[in-house]
Amino acid sequence: MTESPSSGAGVVPLRIDVFSIFPGLVDGFCSDSLLGKSRTNGLLDLRCHDIRESTSDVHRTVDDSPFGGGAGMVMKPGPIFASVEAAEPPRPLLLMSPGGRRFDQDMAQELADLAEASGGFSLLCGRYEGVDHRVRRHLVDDEVSVGDVVLSGGEVAACLIIEAVTRLRDGAMANAQSPITESFGESGLLEEPQYTRPAEFRGWTVPDILRSGDHARIERYRQAQRLHRTLRERPDLIVARGGVTANEQALLEEFPSDPYH
Ligand code: SAH
Repeated sequence: MTESPSSGAGVVPLRIDVFSIFPGLVDGFCSDSLLGKSRTNGLLDLRCHDIRESTSDVHRTVDDSPFGGGAGMVMKPGPIFASVEAAEPPRPLLLMSPGGRRFDQDMAQELADLAEASGGFSLLCGRYEGVDHRVRRHLVDDEVSVGDVVLSGGEVAACLIIEAVTRLRDGAMANAQSPITESFGESGLLEEPQYTRPAEFRGWTVPDILRSGDHARIERYRQAQRLHRTLRERPDLIVARGGVTANEQALLEEFPSDPYH
């Protein structure tokens, strides 16, 4: 018997079911790079369902014109209900919707934690002018937006969510440090500027301290840069974490801001 690839590492696979009339968009995006790897190694159990397969008419109709008139088409409730009921996907089932709860790193973490709690979650992608309101009232558990912008369909939004959530679960195995210090991580700060070789590029040099080999001092310098950058670019995040401590104020004074921000 072959052992499941993830069981040895003790990481529970995350199941995500996606409902769409273009399931190939999501499946394709999630087949390459890290997401593809997560699927192959069993960390991500992604199932893309084609709503059109749950239609009952010869034209496989998924949309119709709106009652009361108006522009565009609306997705019919029947095929969506049938598709979800046949698949019995993990809950919560989240409708992609520009008016929904704004997706952010905290929500990504909540969704990642669902692997242990309920096995995973599911995403429903709208198209056209959106879905019949009865889907929102009687089928889904919540609505999620990826920003104050209107897309043509929920598939790109679903891919964004899948990627953000899956990398948190990968992080649990691969590089446990990065979800803590990277932007929106536990520090509540943006990430500091990063550099790689060459040390000088077109006359722009890497700060000397990063090449000093003094790791304790480098860590203090990096923390100072996270503070400088967040104060300048996202002061709202500083307010949200309750300001700057006396120690952090001392770091800000010890190390000036990286001039290449
Ligand atoms: N008429 C709607 C927009 C429909 S856009 C309105 O005015 O609110 C078509 C579909 O794209 C939506 O049903 C939703 O699933 C998806 N979508 C569009 N913008 C989105 C966003 N910002 N976040 C998540 N999903 C979005």
